[in-house]
Amino acid sequence: MSQNFYQNTLTQMKEVFKIMHLNRDAASILERPNNILKFNLPVRMDDGRIKVFKSYRIQHNNARGPYKGGFRISPNIHEAEVTALATLMSFKCSVVNIPLGGAKGGIKADVRELSLAENERLIRAYTRAVAPFIGVEKDSIGPDMNTNDQTMAWLVDEFMKITTNTNREKGTATGKPVEIGGSLGRMNATSKGGMYIIEEVLQGYSMSKDPTFVIQGFGNVGMNLAEILHTKGFKILAVSDVYGGIYSSKGLDIRSVIDYFQKNKTLNGFKDVEKITNEELLELKCDILAPCAIEDVITEKNADKIKSKFIIEMANGPITPEADKILQSKNIEIIPDILANAGGVTVSYFEMVQNATNYYWSKAEIHEKLKTIMKQAWLSVTQAAHKYNCTHRQAAYITSINRIVDAMRIRGMY
Ligand code: NAD
Repeated sequence: MSQNFYQNTLTQMKEVFKIMHLNRDAASILERPNNILKFNLPVRMDDGRIKVFKSYRIQHNNARGPYKGGFRISPNIHEAEVTALATLMSFKCSVVNIPLGGAKGGIKADVRELSLAENERLIRAYTRAVAPFIGVEKDSIGPDMNTNDQTMAWLVDEFMKITTNTNREKGTATGKPVEIGGSLGRMNATSKGGMYIIEEVLQGYSMSKDPTFVIQGFGNVGMNLAEILHTKGFKILAVSDVYGGIYSSKGLDIRSVIDYFQKNKTLNGFKDVEKITNEELLELKCDILAPCAIEDVITEKNADKIKSKFIIEMANGPITPEADKILQSKNIEIIPDILANAGGVTVSYFEMVQNATNYYWSKAEIHEKLKTIMKQAWLSVTQAAHKYNCTHRQAAYITSINRIVDAMRIRGMY
């Protein structure tokens, strides 16, 4: 992820501050994170040597509640990237109106070069370093790129050992295995949340009777979204992973695609479809394009070639600000990432609530509660778009910033 991502986030924020005539003091607080924590983690490798890993926890804003945000392992991670992601987490939690702030963390490492035991020692070292600054009432960590339910299990185990905290502290990490307090429905929560927004879009806008979808990325978000849409009877024309995509004008049989992908770990070789590149996939004619892979995939270089009516940003930051303007001029509606993919953090919040009460909800209850929150968020954003005569992205930022700023003002923070 590039330095651009941070600059893009700041550009989008500043544009919105102008539209909403935001008080300068409040803006200057939101433009920077509250805390930047950096740790050098010495970890013993399997061959006996010590290797030191750089790591971060960046806490952006906690006016509305404890910091909340994922934690990734990546060889290219840097402070600007983590800061941008922490900032977006504050806005994401606020736009869906859950009582949490925003943070993000990460370790600079290549997981492919770590054994399972080295990975565990690294996570436990990170937990010991960050322990004084996290906790269910301070900052709760979730999985992100190259971290998963096992990572969260190690993290919460180490945290509870060194802080001698009670069962209630389990919510210090979310996305845990169900056996140790994870929530049902977390695995596909982001895609489910996106689906509830798509339902609103399909209802609110005149769309063809048989809307078509194109999905970039076939990981947790992309594959689950494809499966949910397919189960609902929608036509998915194309899907892709990092190596390229597959296309069928009749629509893909997603169940068979998933079976094939899980068996072969690639989409390559799937029968009776056309092979396409990721670039070609983004330019396909369809009703709804769902980027579910990485940031900066739609830029000023390809924005003019996009032919979908709607783009739902399931990935974080898939459209650059320059591309955003080009898409606007083509009347392509964009559902911004902070709203579209907020289903994941919403179910993480449900996990914290369930851990705190030690009472666990059924999958049906989780989905019902998630649906209510996502639909309410969509309503708030569309109302703001109407009131300020602005885009959905600007309206989502305005909705969330208004709530954070209200909390900061009431608390006397500015
Ligand atoms: P993942 O690692 O499970 O899947 C990513 C997919 O993108 C894979 O299929 C990979 O092959 C593909 N990909 C990687 N690089 C690509 C490239 N250059 N071009 C095309 N495809 C590429 O990740 P995920 O959890 O599905 O997350 C996807 C996006 O959604 C990320 O931006 C993430 O930050 C965001 N997100 C995820 C969640 C969640 O709950 N998992 C929540 C909110 C936001």
